[in-house]
Amino acid sequence: MKRWSCRALRVLALGCVVWCTRAADAKDYTGYRVVHLTDVTRAQLDALEAGGAVVLDCVPHPGDADVVVSPQQLATLRDLGITYQVEQENLQALIDAERAPSTRGTGDPFDDFFLDYHRYDNGTGSIIWFMNELASRYPNLATMIDIGTSIDGRTIWAMRIANDAVAGNKPGALYFSCVHAREWITTTIPPYFAKHVLESYGNDVVITDMVDHTEIFLVPVSNPDGYEFCWTDDRLWRKNRAINSNGTIGVDINRNWSEAWGIDDDGSSGSPSSATYRGPAPFSEPETRALRDVVLNHPNIRTMLDIHSFSQLILWPWGYTDALCPDDPLFREHGYAMRDLIYAVHEEDYTAGPTYTTIYAVNGDSLDWGYAQHGILGFSFEVRPKEGAFGTGFLLDKSEIIPNNEEILPAMLYLTNTDFVRSPVIIELDSEIPEVITPGQAVPLAVSVTSQYENLVPGTPRMYYRYDPAGPFNEVPLTPVSTNGYTAELPATNCSSTPEFYFAADGDGGSVVTLPRPAELAPFDPPVAVGVFYAANMDSDPGWTAQGQWAWGVPTGGGTFNHDPTSGHTGANVYGYNLSGNYADNLPATYLTTAPIDCTGEFGVELRFWRWLGVESSFGFDDATVEVSNDGLNWTVVYSAADEHATDNGFVVDTEWVHQTFDISAVADDQPTVYLRWGMGPTDGSNALPGWNIDDVVLFSKGCVAIAGDYNGDSVVSAGDLYGLNDCLTGPAGGLLPTCGVFDFDADGNVDLTDFAAFQELAAP
Ligand SMILES: [Zn+2]
Repeated sequence: MKRWSCRALRVLALGCVVWCTRAADAKDYTGYRVVHLTDVTRAQLDALEAGGAVVLDCVPHPGDADVVVSPQQLATLRDLGITYQVEQENLQALIDAERAPSTRGTGDPFDDFFLDYHRYDNGTGSIIWFMNELASRYPNLATMIDIGTSIDGRTIWAMRIANDAVAGNKPGALYFSCVHAREWITTTIPPYFAKHVLESYGNDVVITDMVDHTEIFLVPVSNPDGYEFCWTDDRLWRKNRAINSNGTIGVDINRNWSEAWGIDDDGSSGSPSSATYRGPAPFSEPETRALRDVVLNHPNIRTMLDIHSFSQLILWPWGYTDALCPDDPLFREHGYAMRDLIYAVHEEDYTAGPTYTTIYAVNGDSLDWGYAQHGILGFSFEVRPKEGAFGTGFLLDKSEIIPNNEEILPAMLYLTNTDFVRSPVIIELDSEIPEVITPGQAVPLAVSVTSQYENLVPGTPRMYYRYDPAGPFNEVPLTPVSTNGYTAELPATNCSSTPEFYFAADGDGGSVVTLPRPAELAPFDPPVAVGVFYAANMDSDPGWTAQGQWAWGVPTGGGTFNHDPTSGHTGANVYGYNLSGNYADNLPATYLTTAPIDCTGEFGVELRFWRWLGVESSFGFDDATVEVSNDGLNWTVVYSAADEHATDNGFVVDTEWVHQTFDISAVADDQPTVYLRWGMGPTDGSNALPGWNIDDVVLFSKGCVAIAGDYNGDSVVSAGDLYGLNDCLTGPAGGLLPTCGVFDFDADGNVDLTDFAAFQELAAP
C-alpha cells in the first residue's frame, strides 16, 4: 500500500489534514524547473511527454508551451535543439508555499473557506463539507445530489439550487469545475457562486427571482480521483485515474465526449500516455458520463460552464473545427458581455472567442457536445492567471482565490439571467427608456415580442404602469404594429408622480415573461423631471458674445496635434476658438459668453455639451475653462484643462467628439439670469494647439416642482385639470390616489371638498 489512507488517519489524529496533504511518496519536484518553450512542434511535445515532462497548459498545443522538466529532461531539451527559457528554478518551493496553511482568517472553517485550497471530501474544511454545510443552512433552496461514482469509487457531488416552492417550468444551468485535476482554483468557483446566491436570496431582488425561476447544478470537482491524487501524489496531475490498456494512467475527461470524438486526430490524442488522451471510446469514463447524465436527465438545461484554468479565456463552440458555429453571434454577444463584466471588477483581461480559433483544436469536448446535441449555450472559462509567469499557472497563489471569484461571479449571474436561458418568450425594447419623463407629455414606447422555447400567446403582450408606488398597476394591452412589433403609450403625468412601468407577455407553456425581470420589484422608473429646457445645437448662430478668435461656423480640420474637426457633433457648425487652426501663444483668457438664460423653476441643473478640445494642459502652461455665473460678474469655474488628466505628453487632445456633463445646480438652480462662458487661455509662449470646438449645448433640469392643481403637468392650472380632480376626489380619510398629490392643497393626505374649493379659486378665470 503506497498511498496513505485518509479515512484511517482521520480516526488516529486531528492533524489528519496536515498528514494527508503530503503523502510519504508524493512526487517531489525539488530541482525541477519550469521552462518556456517557443516554436515547439507536436512531435517534440510528444517526445517530451513520453520522457516524463509535464506540459503546463489546460489545452496543450504546439507553439508556445510551459513545461516542467527534471534536470535530465533539461538535457533532452538541449539535445532536441528546442529553444527554452527557465521561468522557475525550483517548482517544489511553490508547491510547499501553496500547502502552508493560511495565516489569515478567523479560525472558523466555514468563514475561512476561500482563504485556502481544500481537499475534496475528508471532513471539516473540505469542499464537500462546505457544500453540505451551505445546503444545511439553506434547506429550502439547496440540496446535494449524487451524480455518479468515479473510477476509484468516490461520489461525484453536485449542489442543486432551486426553490421548489415556486411552481412553473424552469430553465436549467450546469456549471462544473475541475475536470482537469491540477486546475485547483476552479474548485473554489461553484462554492463561491453557491454561497453568494444563497446568502443573497431574499435580499437581492434579481437573485431571488433567479433562484425562484431556475434550476442550477453546481459541480465543484468533476474529477475527484485526479484532484485527490494531486494532493497525495503529484500536484501536476491532469487526467482521471483510469488504468489504460497499456498500463499508463488517465483519460482526459474533456476529450471523452462523443461529439467529433477524436476526429482527424486533431485536438486530442489516441496515445494513452498523452495529457490529452481521449480514452478508448466516447463516454468511456464514469466522470464524463456523470456530467452527461445531468444533461440527459434535465432537458431543461439551456446553459453550461466548463470551468478550467489558466490563461484568462472565454471559449465557445466549435472546438473541433475552425468553422464558426451557426449561433456564433449569440455566443459572441454573451461571451463579450461576460468578458466586459469580468474586466470591470479588477481590470483582468480575458480573451473571448471560439475554442478552435482562440487557442487550438480540441475535439470530444463538453461544449461541442452540449451545443450540437442539446442546443446548450455553453462556455468554457480559463480563469486566472493570464500567463504561467514563473511557472505558477496551476499554482495560483491563494491570495487570488477571492479576487478571482469576485470577477467571475457577475459573469455567472449574467449568463444565468440571459434571455436565452430565462425567457421562453423574449420581450425587447425597440425604443429607449427616456432619461426623464417630461411632465404633461405622454411617452410613446415600442417593444418586440418573439417566441423562443415557448410560443407567444397572441394578444397577451401588455404594459403595466402606475404613478404611485403604493398603488396598483394599471394594465393596458400593447398595440400590434408589425409581426413582432408593438407600441404602448405611457399617459402624461405630473411632478407629484413616481412612475413605474414594465412589460409582460405569456408563453403557451404557462410562463409569464416580463421586461425588466423581476418586474414588480425592479420596474422601469425614470423620474418625472423637466429635462432639457435650453438647447443650442449650433445649426444657427445662437448670437453669443465672442471675444478674440471665438467664432461660429464650420471648423476646417486645421491646427496641430489632434487637429480641429471638419464638422459639428451634429450639423456642420460649431462655436470654436479659431475655426481654421491653433490658438495663439501668450494669449490672455478670451471668452465666449452666452446671453442670460432663465433658470427660474429649474432644479438640479446640469450643463451638457460636446467638445473637441486640443490644449497644452499640464502644469497650467495653457488653459481652457468652462465657467458659470448667475449675475454676469462673479464666475464659478466648473472645468479647467489644467485639472484634467492629460492624455498625451501633458496635452488634452480630443480626436473625437467628447460628451461633457457638469452639475451647475449650486449656481444656476431657480436663478433668472444664468450665464455660461468658455475660456481660451491664458496660454504660454510655446505649444499652441487647436483649442475649443463646442456643439450641442444643453441645460438639463433633473428636478420637477409640482404645481398645486396642475394635474396634467402642463404648468397651467385650468379646466383641463378638472377631469383629474373628479377621479382624485376621495373625500375625507379616502386616501391619496396615484398622481393626486397636486390636488391635496391642505396636505391632509386626501382630496376632499376643501381641496376642491381651493382648486376652483386657482382655476377661475
Ligand atoms: Zn483544463
